[in-house]
Amino acid sequence: MDCLFCKIAQGEIPSTKIYEDERFFAFKDIAPQAPVHFLVIPKQHIESLDKVTEEDVKLLGDAMLFIARLARKQGLDKTGYRVVNNMGDDGGQTVKHLHFHILGGRSLQWPPG
Ligand code: AMP
Ligand code: ZN
Repeated sequence: MDCLFCKIAQGEIPSTKIYEDERFFAFKDIAPQAPVHFLVIPKQHIESLDKVTEEDVKLLGDAMLFIARLARKQGLDKTGYRVVNNMGDDGGQTVKHLHFHILGGRSLQWPPG
């Protein structure tokens, strides 16, 4: 499949990997928007949050645990961080493979632009 994030997860396209296990891959965002900005993706191709089904419920819950553990490893639990999923055009989704942004290391504005 011609998907950038599938290729990154499979190591076909280089990335700055933070961690991976059987189901998830975490890597640094190429255009960081905060001192800490990494992405977590399921290795399984899911186009967006809109395409998630009941079968993916455990995967998504485990993704949140995976994210919290990685954030804690980087000390972000002390200062806080933000987890973002962009869905579709108005959400600002540019890569059509479900991913979560983890942003931290500075105080983030709310609401987003
Ligand atoms: P989104 O706009 O929510 O779809 O997020 C896609 C993110 O992927 C953006 O923050 C990009 O900077 C990031 N990105 C695009 N290509 C790469 C790449 N090759 N390696 C790492 N991050 C990337
Ligand atoms: Zn994909």
